[in-house]
Amino acid sequence: MSDTPIQKNLLSGRFARLLLLAFLAMSQGLVFAAASLQYDLQDWQYRWGDSPFIEGQPEWTMPDQLNHTDWQTIAQPLYPPDRQDRHNIWYRTTLPDIRMIDPVVFVSSINLIAEVYLDQQLVYRFGEFDAEGKGDYAGWPWHIIGLPDDFAGRTLYFRVYSDYTDIGLWGEKKLLERSSAFLNILNNSHSDLIIAAFFFFIALLAFAFSVMRGDNREFIYLGLFSLASAGNLLGESQALQLLIYAPLAKTYLAAISYFSIPIFIALILNYWLAEKTGKLMLRIAQMHIAYVLLCLMLSLLGIWHLAFFYPVFDVLFIITLMIMAWFCIHYFTAMNTEQRMVMGAFGIYAVFFLIDMVVAHGLVPWFNFPLAYGGLIFALVLVIISLRQYRQTQQALGDLNLLLEQRVTERTASLQNYVELEQQRANQLALVNEFSLRLETLISRLQPSQSLQEAGNIICQDLHKVFAPIQLQVTLFNEFADLSPSAGMNNKYLIDIEDLQFGKQTFITFDLLDISAETLETRQSIEQFISRAIDRLSVTLSGVKLREQLHVMSFEDALTGLKNRRFFDEALQRELHLAERHQQAISLLICDIDHFKQFNDLHGHEAGDMALRAVASLMLEHFRETDIPCRYGGEEFVVLMPSANVEDALERAKSLLEKIASNPIVYQQNDLGRLTISIGISSWDGKDKIPDLLVQYADKALYRAKQAGRNRVEVAARSEP
Ligand code: GH3
Ligand code: MG
Ligand code: MG
Repeated sequence: MSDTPIQKNLLSGRFARLLLLAFLAMSQGLVFAAASLQYDLQDWQYRWGDSPFIEGQPEWTMPDQLNHTDWQTIAQPLYPPDRQDRHNIWYRTTLPDIRMIDPVVFVSSINLIAEVYLDQQLVYRFGEFDAEGKGDYAGWPWHIIGLPDDFAGRTLYFRVYSDYTDIGLWGEKKLLERSSAFLNILNNSHSDLIIAAFFFFIALLAFAFSVMRGDNREFIYLGLFSLASAGNLLGESQALQLLIYAPLAKTYLAAISYFSIPIFIALILNYWLAEKTGKLMLRIAQMHIAYVLLCLMLSLLGIWHLAFFYPVFDVLFIITLMIMAWFCIHYFTAMNTEQRMVMGAFGIYAVFFLIDMVVAHGLVPWFNFPLAYGGLIFALVLVIISLRQYRQTQQALGDLNLLLEQRVTERTASLQNYVELEQQRANQLALVNEFSLRLETLISRLQPSQSLQEAGNIICQDLHKVFAPIQLQVTLFNEFADLSPSAGMNNKYLIDIEDLQFGKQTFITFDLLDISAETLETRQSIEQFISRAIDRLSVTLSGVKLREQLHVMSFEDALTGLKNRRFFDEALQRELHLAERHQQAISLLICDIDHFKQFNDLHGHEAGDMALRAVASLMLEHFRETDIPCRYGGEEFVVLMPSANVEDALERAKSLLEKIASNPIVYQQNDLGRLTISIGISSWDGKDKIPDLLVQYADKALYRAKQAGRNRVEVAARSEP
């Protein structure tokens, strides 16, 4: 579409000054009361059809046509009766008889294009009329129609073409000063502009939130809804036209954003109430998207005027609003407070939309209805709820963070604890390993011990080294005692040894003095080690003891308890050597029981054994500590008498004869009579060289004693053959 020279005239320097004045006034918060000099144009007449033109002048404006009967009166130049499918109409009114400085007629909107004549003079044109009086849709701007000074009482004609549902002048139709017209425009639009700016602000905020929160469609929808509302307000705003004169583009902006509003409302409701509405809201949104696309396509291709999409859209929108309203009422009780707030605000907005439609379609007399306030309420409620949710999410995030931190602290503490425990365990293990190594050293030192006493001394000295740095108290039992733990030695550890004769005997007790300072785990592992150590020591000591006992046994005669022949042989060599070194006398006695075979035969072998033990014990009694009586074999005994000369030996032998001969043998309470023995003595007086064959000499002397009748003593001669 193109601007007429008349319209271009509007955008003059005068206009710019007015605009400045208007904004100045706005900024100072002045209330724009419409100027006092303004008249609503009334007493309208209409005449269907288009006027023929005579030499470029419309015939219907000629003075002779003034009282033509086709002119009918009408309250407002809109919705003329009996339209049928007519597209051309003329309206006229007589301007009041007043004087004005810069008179203009202000018209809110024209359906659809028009030429304005003051009498026969063309004063304004909107749209292009072809030769048939038709033209294309050119948008819905407001119109300021400049009048000459001498307008008073003259007739103003509107030649109108419309193939739209409405035909005529819509909204305000006023005669006023040009300045008042601009003030009027600003007055009409300042709230729209402020609210549009607010919607832009909300859109920015919402987009910022949606970026901050990542996936948050709620804020994107809110932002788009705000943008659509702002676009609609701007498109509808009269003030925008002051800055940019592009009526069709402005109408596109208003239409597309208006048609988009239900898309975002449906998406927001779908987001908030999806569990209640299912896919219905999504479908409604999709339907409206399709409608917007269709509208753009058809109108841009010139198939259908943009204007025609309004009534269809309004029908769709009413259906949409009714469905939404039904859901709101139906699920109101099942909603939470926030959802109710959304629904309540939306309900208010819906009522605003309906009233706006009623006004737009002329179902009520026109008034400047503030649709923007409805949108504002809705947007504010959504913003409040979204911010509340945002705050709650932030708080929840904060709480979660706190919880996580707490968990991390707990985990760190437990890990620390675990590490400490592991360290302790490693320390215990190292300690016990150290103990074990030392124990093995101690045991390797114990093993070669000749006697239990020697081993006991080593333990007394060195057991504390095994348990260092733990202090230890060791008690060694020289005499075996039956010290079972029940005998009141709770804190003590007992090392028992196995004795061949007496069985299990406690040999050593010990106590750890400062173990209570250790942890329970350390104490437990020390206790375990102690029990292993006790077992090992006990086995080792039992071995020492056994070896000692076996050693003793190998020199002892099992029947009589006297030393045996092996011992005698060793002792003889040793004593002879000592005697020779010290030049001391030494004597040797060989004793043989007389007729012992007979005794055995008479009383049995066991009684014989008894008799042998009796003789042996008499011999042990009879000789000095330093004398060594041994069983030489069978019923023969030898006695080594260090430091005894032949006289001493003879005297001892004789008294032994008497002792044995006078001692009755009692076996199982039966007196078995008396035994006698024969004794052969050989001696060295400690002078000259010691004889090698002392035993043979004694044996020979014994032989002689037997020969001489037994129960007697014979002394080997100095040079016994
Ligand atoms: P003599 O007066 O000539 O010594 O006569 P004797 O019977 O004592 O001598 P002989 O050498 O003929 O016999 C020794 C006997 O001693 C033979 C054996 O029965 C007995 N005898 C040897 N050792 C033991 C022993 O350990 N226990 C018992 N009960 N008898 C033994
Ligand atoms: Mg004999
Ligand atoms: Mg004999």
